[in-house]
Amino acid sequence: MFNPDLIASDINRPRQQYRGRFAPSPSGLLHFGSLIAALGSYLQAKSQHGQWLLRIEDIDKPREMPGADTQILNTLEAYGLHWDEDVLYQSKQASLYDAVMDELLANHMSYYCRCSRAEIKALGGIYQGHCKHRNYDKQQSALRLINQHPVDDFVDGVQGLVKVDNGLSHEDFIIHRRDGLYAYQLAVVIDDIYQGITEVVRGCDLLEPTARQITLYKTFGKPLPSYVHLPLAVTEQGYKLSKQNAAPAIDNDRPQPALIAALEFLGQQPDAHLIDATVEQLIDWALQHWQLNKVPKLKEISL
Ligand code: GLU
Ligand code: ZN
Repeated sequence: MFNPDLIASDINRPRQQYRGRFAPSPSGLLHFGSLIAALGSYLQAKSQHGQWLLRIEDIDKPREMPGADTQILNTLEAYGLHWDEDVLYQSKQASLYDAVMDELLANHMSYYCRCSRAEIKALGGIYQGHCKHRNYDKQQSALRLINQHPVDDFVDGVQGLVKVDNGLSHEDFIIHRRDGLYAYQLAVVIDDIYQGITEVVRGCDLLEPTARQITLYKTFGKPLPSYVHLPLAVTEQGYKLSKQNAAPAIDNDRPQPALIAALEFLGQQPDAHLIDATVEQLIDWALQHWQLNKVPKLKEISL
């Protein structure tokens, strides 16, 4: 059995204390879409007198933009979103990820796979355990988790009951990629446990991977966080706003308009006079008036 103590969150910390986080990847500057995730997770944590932690998800070097991490921190400060504790950089967590993978291998809870994407597609798109008994070694292989805890649905604080595609939820999914990168699922769950996160608030683009993340918590024998998936900001053409499609960075010199727009997007009703308030006053107002039940499930904006 997997040793749950391997991923220690501080055991002296009372479990009832709310701990949320914002976990940007430094692939670009913060844009309106990321501001929504940052602001929503901040307000949800701070309105409950919780902690709000910051984690920089810098384990995908090829997709990083040099200097983006520092600029993200500066933007959050300029927007009045001050985090608690030290920033956690995923690039410093490799030895923990490796220890977890060793433990999974030692307990026969994972296996190496050499199938290419094209091969899996040709076999119907869902991975059927083709390499499970092939005893491949590490070279040129991805590592897959033996999925003993498939998750078919879960309850989300904004989206309600979320049903997951059956084929996907039962798959033995990749936790370490063939190109040597750690899978997002693995790193995010290990670090959410490590940081003692009790609720995950993020954008709806990460709704689908949530099922696999819950599978990992169950595999590790750890209590689940609750989940809140905020509506996504999409462009008029229906594209998700992201660093990849070069959504405009938000303005550090005058945060008020973007903060007010983000609050409106999240279904809150900011007073018009807040446009002349200081950033601190604006965030204070938002904290006092934050209502999760006003956040819409879906929302579109035009740019
Ligand atoms: N690093 C991920 C992103 O920027 C977010 C991870 C998460 O919030 O779980 O899309
Ligand atoms: Zn395979």
